[in-house]
Amino acid sequence: MTIKQPYENELQPGHYLFEEPGEGVIQYARAITAQYLEENPDADREELLDLMAAIIDQKPDNKRVKRCDFCRYLWHDDSKRNNKRTCSDECKRGLKTLQKRKQRKVKTVEEPPKENRGHKYYAHYEYPFWVSEQAMLSSRIDGESFMNHDAIDRISAEQEIYGGGNRKVVTHERLD
Ligand SMILES: [Zn+2]
Repeated sequence: MTIKQPYENELQPGHYLFEEPGEGVIQYARAITAQYLEENPDADREELLDLMAAIIDQKPDNKRVKRCDFCRYLWHDDSKRNNKRTCSDECKRGLKTLQKRKQRKVKTVEEPPKENRGHKYYAHYEYPFWVSEQAMLSSRIDGESFMNHDAIDRISAEQEIYGGGNRKVVTHERLD
């Protein structure tokens, strides 16, 4: 007798399936067992264990027997249109909760919470400051100039003396 090992639920890492069969799964297992016992009233322990394994793992060639999207056991869909994905209301709710959690995770990664774009640079104080280094750097990336007037004056003064560009001009002979 072989029973598939429990496997990790891709929607909820760390949560192993084959743990709690939903109501629809239990009904399906009951119906199969009852039918088998009716046909084989003298079934022994070994036979019943094989039957259990088959109920858990072997999907019969029946379009109404499917694996519940949430609890992952086999169950029989009695609904008129045979379009249900979960074996019970409980599993349906569980699946929705997992999907929401997954969407929330994806959303958080794709669009991190918006930071407050205003009030990053406090310019009207005696010592202007940035709220954070990150705010300063991102502002630089945005192309916003944050050079103060003293720096601009100094650069234009140097340009008047040394000329433009970055080339350093030696103005004093060094006496060694
Ligand atoms: Zn289920």
